[in-house]
Amino acid sequence: MRTIIIAGNWKMYKDLSETRELVAALKAAMPSLPEHVESVICPPYPSLALAGELLKGSPFHLGAQNMSQHDEGAYTGEVSAKMLKATGCTFVILGHSERRQYYGETNELINAKARKALSAGLRPIICVGETLDEREKGVTGEVITTQIKGVLASIPPQDMARSVIAYEPVWAIGTGRTATPQQAQEVHQVIRKMVAQLYDWALAERIVIQYGGSVKPDNAAEILSQNDVDGALVGGACLKADSFSAIIRAARQ
Ligand code: PEP
Repeated sequence: MRTIIIAGNWKMYKDLSETRELVAALKAAMPSLPEHVESVICPPYPSLALAGELLKGSPFHLGAQNMSQHDEGAYTGEVSAKMLKATGCTFVILGHSERRQYYGETNELINAKARKALSAGLRPIICVGETLDEREKGVTGEVITTQIKGVLASIPPQDMARSVIAYEPVWAIGTGRTATPQQAQEVHQVIRKMVAQLYDWALAERIVIQYGGSVKPDNAAEILSQNDVDGALVGGACLKADSFSAIIRAARQ
């Protein structure tokens, strides 16, 4: 049985006092997690060190929403893997569609970041997903295949086993429009087959593939019940402890 990983992407929400409140509420709502379920919260950079302190002794992992592909240097505004680790991060989201769309991140750059994260001992949550236009043109499979090949290039098998892939159809992020469980399952199967082709089936069977795109307490159980859906990357619904904890509970219903 694969572990289910529910990750919360706080995006550019929650200052320090709000971080304090949300972490306290999450810890109170979920002093422990269901068996075989892990959860990661990904606050913005300024809140990471505080969240890392507050999460000590709790079942939640800490993750960042982005990182540099470089170790260190004159890269104004960037944050390295080593810096993230020092705050207590064990995960990092890479290649979120908002990074691709607003900051021009390419598969090549995301791949460089993923390799850097892995070599630093972080687990990357690598995002892929098609736009509405691509889905309507019927090219979802090709788009996902190209993205997967690009973002996973040269990642050795032992590192791949620690990586998480998040399938996030761009048209479902923050829109309230969710992929049907069948649509999600179809693409997750394509991704698992791709991983099997690039590596082997034993590895593909172990990889956690999350779905992201308007996951809420009322649709989480059905999406997460699909064979190849091994977790969720949650945006809007992770900003409140009651909705995020309801999604975590739905993972093992
Ligand atoms: C996301 O930010 O990755 C996401 C899936 O957002 P939402 O749940 O709000 O659609």
